[in-house]
Amino acid sequence: MINSKKRDLTVFFDPKISLDEINTIAEEISCTYGIQIIEKSELSIISSALNKSRNQYNGQILLNYLIENKKQRFFLWIVKDDLYIPFRNFVFGLATKNYGAVLTFHRLVSINMKIKESIHECGHIYGLNHCKNNCVMQYSSSFNEAMNKPLKLCQKCQQSLVSSIDTLQD
Ligand SMILES: [Zn+2]
Ligand SMILES: [Zn+2]
Repeated sequence: MINSKKRDLTVFFDPKISLDEINTIAEEISCTYGIQIIEKSELSIISSALNKSRNQYNGQILLNYLIENKKQRFFLWIVKDDLYIPFRNFVFGLATKNYGAVLTFHRLVSINMKIKESIHECGHIYGLNHCKNNCVMQYSSSFNEAMNKPLKLCQKCQQSLVSSIDTLQD
C-alpha cells in the first residue's frame, strides 16, 4: 500500500520481550501497511519516564525521547511496563502521526492482542484516525474493547491510508 522506502519502520523492543513475538508482529505490520521493517533493535525503557508514585511510565516522555533526543522517524517502540499519559489511568500505546509510536505489552495477554495494538499504533503513524467501523482502528480504552475489535483495517481506513500517505511530510 505504501510504496516509498521513507515510510519503512524501525521496531525497538524491550530486551525482556521474546524475539519470536517481535518477528511475528513485524511480519503482520509489514503485510498490513506494505512496508519493510528496516531494523529490529533492543531498547530498554528509560528511567526518566518513570513516575514513582504511580509506578507507571509516562508514554509521552518515551515518545519524545526517540523523536527529539534520538531524532528517530517511523518507529514503533514496544515496552513491557505499564504506561500512562496525563489525565488517563493507563494507555496501551500512543503515537505521533508521521513520527512514531510507543506500545506496551503490559495489559495485553495474547499474541493476538499484541498484534492488534501494534497494527493500531502503526495506523496512527501512517496518518489514520480512530474509526467507528468494525476495524482495528477502533479506539479502545478498556481491555474488553481491545480484545473484541478485529485485527484488520476496514475498507474505509485502507482507502484513507492511501490518501494520507500523500500528505505525510518529508
Ligand atoms: Zn488509537
Ligand atoms: Zn476503519
